[in-house]
Amino acid sequence: MTYVITSNCTQDGECVDACPVDCIAPRKSDEGFGEGVMLYVNPDECIDCGACEPVCPAEAIFSEDNLPDEWQSFIEINRLYYQDAAAAEAAARAYRDSH
Ligand code: SF4
Ligand code: SF4
Repeated sequence: MTYVITSNCTQDGECVDACPVDCIAPRKSDEGFGEGVMLYVNPDECIDCGACEPVCPAEAIFSEDNLPDEWQSFIEINRLYYQDAAAAEAAARAYRDSH
């Protein structure tokens, strides 16, 4: 299981500060932080601690088990970011623009 960020994300970085294993990107020190579409959880590194969810002011983070149907595609979009960031950003932008 993992946590999943959705395109409600406003990129304020609160979850990045809360995550104990640093598995949310981009990080505040990364070039382009805040200039993309959203942030993404690395599902291979997330330890499912839940620390990110309550600090999110946008209600953009869900545990995979509680992810509403409308956001199911973001399980793959979060994973995709760690393989092809540009493709994940394009998919997230397309979703956001169509909703
Ligand atoms: S559940 Fe914990 S480990 Fe996973 S992204 Fe959130 S804060 Fe990080
Ligand atoms: S706390 Fe929520 S809105 Fe802020 S960067 Fe994380 S997911 Fe996005």
